[in-house]
Amino acid sequence: MALRFPDSMEECIYFTRRIIGSGKAAAWVFRQPCTACKKGMMGKPVDEKTGKAKIRALEYTCSSCHASIEKKEYEETLSCNIQYTCPSCGKSGEAVAPFKRKSFEGVPAIVFQCASCSKKLGITKKMKEGKKKAAVDAEDDDF
Ligand SMILES: [Zn+2]
Ligand SMILES: [Zn+2]
Repeated sequence: MALRFPDSMEECIYFTRRIIGSGKAAAWVFRQPCTACKKGMMGKPVDEKTGKAKIRALEYTCSSCHASIEKKEYEETLSCNIQYTCPSCGKSGEAVAPFKRKSFEGVPAIVFQCASCSKKLGITKKMKEGKKKAAVDAEDDDF
């Protein structure tokens, strides 16, 4: 089953594009409806003054009933969709991994496996690498 690529960032609570060696990956997590009221969508709380989501908030809240769930607890229930070009075998593929950081080569990452060569790949937490990569990661969410 082909993954659906998001039409807009609004649909996602997380979206990033990464270069992985000679390969690359795009990863995203769709926003999900609230399980309590089934009307609202879960997202980072919105700052009432600016109207912008508080991306550093440590919780997600429902846009309708304002139920909130602790960030880590909530994220671990979600799935991360990944489209990649494998740096090891050069093939492209899709994967779904838990939206949960594991230690990958000493760095927290969403870990998945290349379906073609079984190489383990990681979407690593963004590190401070200077401003060079800022343009590439401009759309990156808090991670
Ligand atoms: Zn709700
Ligand atoms: Zn591969």
